Amino acid sequence: MLQYPNLEQALKYHFGYDQFRPGQRQIIEDALQNRDLLVVMPTGGGKSLCFQLPALIKKGLTVVVSPLIALMQDQVEALRNNNISATFLNSSLNPYQVRSREEAILNGKVRLLYVAPERLMSERFLPFLDLVHHQIGISTFAIDEAHCVSEWGHDFRPEYRQLRSLRSRYPHVPTIALTATATERVRSDIIQQIGLKQPSIHIASFNRQNLYYEVRPKTKYAYAELLELIREIDGSAIIYCLTRKKVDELTFKLQNDKVSVLAYHAGLSDEERSSNQTRFIRDDARVMVATIAFGMGINKPDVRLVIHFDIPRNLESYYQESGRAGRDGEPSRCTIFFSFGDIKTIEWSINQKTDAQEQLIAKQQLRQMIDYAEGTDCRRTIQLSYFGERFLGNCANCDNCRHPKPVEDWSIEAMKFLSCVARCKERFGMLHIIDVLRGAKNQKITQYEHDKLSTYGIGKDRSGEEWRMLGRSLLHQGLLEQTSDGYSVLKLNAHSWEVMRRQRKVEIAVSATQKVSLIEESPKAAEAEELLYRLRSLRKQLADEQSIAPYVIFHDSTLKLMAQVQPKTLVEFGKLSGVGSHKLAQYGEKFLAEIRTYRDGKNPVHQAVDDITSLSLISGTELQTLQLHQQGLNVAEIAKQRKLSPTTIVSHLARLIEKNQPVDLNLLVPVEHHQKIWQVLEVLGDIPLTPLKEQLGTAYTFDEIRLVKEKWRREKRK
Ligand code: ADP
Ligand code: ZN
Repeated sequence: MLQYPNLEQALKYHFGYDQFRPGQRQIIEDALQNRDLLVVMPTGGGKSLCFQLPALIKKGLTVVVSPLIALMQDQVEALRNNNISATFLNSSLNPYQVRSREEAILNGKVRLLYVAPERLMSERFLPFLDLVHHQIGISTFAIDEAHCVSEWGHDFRPEYRQLRSLRSRYPHVPTIALTATATERVRSDIIQQIGLKQPSIHIASFNRQNLYYEVRPKTKYAYAELLELIREIDGSAIIYCLTRKKVDELTFKLQNDKVSVLAYHAGLSDEERSSNQTRFIRDDARVMVATIAFGMGINKPDVRLVIHFDIPRNLESYYQESGRAGRDGEPSRCTIFFSFGDIKTIEWSINQKTDAQEQLIAKQQLRQMIDYAEGTDCRRTIQLSYFGERFLGNCANCDNCRHPKPVEDWSIEAMKFLSCVARCKERFGMLHIIDVLRGAKNQKITQYEHDKLSTYGIGKDRSGEEWRMLGRSLLHQGLLEQTSDGYSVLKLNAHSWEVMRRQRKVEIAVSATQKVSLIEESPKAAEAEELLYRLRSLRKQLADEQSIAPYVIFHDSTLKLMAQVQPKTLVEFGKLSGVGSHKLAQYGEKFLAEIRTYRDGKNPVHQAVDDITSLSLISGTELQTLQLHQQGLNVAEIAKQRKLSPTTIVSHLARLIEKNQPVDLNLLVPVEHHQKIWQVLEVLGDIPLTPLKEQLGTAYTFDEIRLVKEKWRREKRK
């Protein structure tokens, strides 16, 4: 064994990290004792390190079994960027490449070999493995994605079953099995099928603290909210839809809205899929709209947002899919858009299943998903209890904990609604009932003479959206029925009559409007923003030169540290978490130079001003924008002079307005536009930008609307 003063130093030297994640140290110690191991950790928990670090310390070759070519290539690339000699053998290589890699292995030049199970167990490969075992030794078999061995898991692969024979062939080589699958059944299956011997079992908590969970109603503003969520984040997003068709439609819409977006589903050719995936991973496109076909093998650590635009099929898949956000531990958001209409679609497809048992399970899973979406408890409590883990509420990082929904008594409204259904003779759907309640004038109403009903116009005091919210809730609570023949006709049941006879109260959770911003921005963070932008560009440029993903060079978290700490020397730079010995040598000078240029660019006047303003909570970068604005420069000119994007300048101005600074809107927005936007805001209220823009028309820009809206909000707060 190679000797290090301690494991932490080995970690820092090879990988640049200061600390182990929970569980890693214990697992690595067990691995160094040559024990068999079962490691169950959520996505992003840091499983790979658990066999990678021991591989560098122990003698011999570590053989890693991995199911997907893309996964192998990613990991090997990341290891090589830390100057760790790793290689893979798979079908993408020609015979010459295979031979030269095998030679390197036999010469003891390789620490980690990644290989697919079918190759590992092939007639041709096993003799080679014997040779390796004999000449240089095999230190460990690490079986990644070990749940593939189980029929009860979601990715069963028959080839994984053959791995068992490795145990008889090499009885003294320890085996580590790793998975993110949370269910008990799969875990015991793994131990059995792979034949682990008295394994040390490590099950980490499945609580992903950095993820913010929320569920939003899928109203007619859903698309607008989605756009704002994407615009708000600084990084990548995945949007899941139920069908290929929906993926294509949403991709098209987003493209029209100038979002850099790609699609991924089984209907695309293999080349298209893999090229889209690569472009996403390398940050050439920011958003991936996909069916669940997009998933395993995506270990991009810096996905900041995972949206389910349609409800997921069950909680386990939701946990795995949303878990693709924030693997690097940075704050990230997971949003579901929930609508009753989607449930109907899924129910319909469940009813098409012929196997009664399957149907039953699918229905039950869907019910659990609906309960999660409608639940008013902490989202973490609901999720973790599903995996048998107790979590005592109030995580402060989900919508229900941050904005507890007030429950209101809507009995009177419910009586109005239900009696309107009765008066319309239980022959119409929700939209028509709401039209009658709100006293609409349309052909259908005149045709049926519904304007003569006593319930006509008695609901003008509530908006259409509010009535829909009530209608949905009545359906969910079983106080009203809806036919599933495709027409969704509303029908009364015994409970409905109880409500109308005042024998039953109706309470509904009223969703409050939520602010989009993930984290409150501190002035210090805003200050670092500009430098961060430059460091990102440098990282992308270096990554493109080597045709690798930017995160392979440095993670977002490391870039943020650079921008905050602003190291001056290589020694200081080397202390940042994420900077190991090799990356320090490889990239240190380049990043230091960028930081230096940034510092020098800030002249002494600005420095002095920074000191004053840091007291008053306006960041230096905002203040520089304000000064240029006051000199009469427009957004484009300020952006050019400051080498920042116009969007960033507009965000500065918006924040300055929010902080009541002297921003002159007349210089930014033509007066007529200003007035018109203001009027629309007075009517529609504080709704997202896209519906405002829809209302206003194409002559108005998002930037104008955003600035006027900020001003309007300030006025309202007074
Ligand atoms: P998993 O396979 O469990 O989903 P990974 O092994 O891909 O997770 O690790 C997730 C991310 O966390 C990777 O980008 C990895 O570099 C990073 N990571 C792992 N261990 C640490 C650590 N001790 N400190 C900081 N980052 C870590
Ligand atoms: Zn919570």
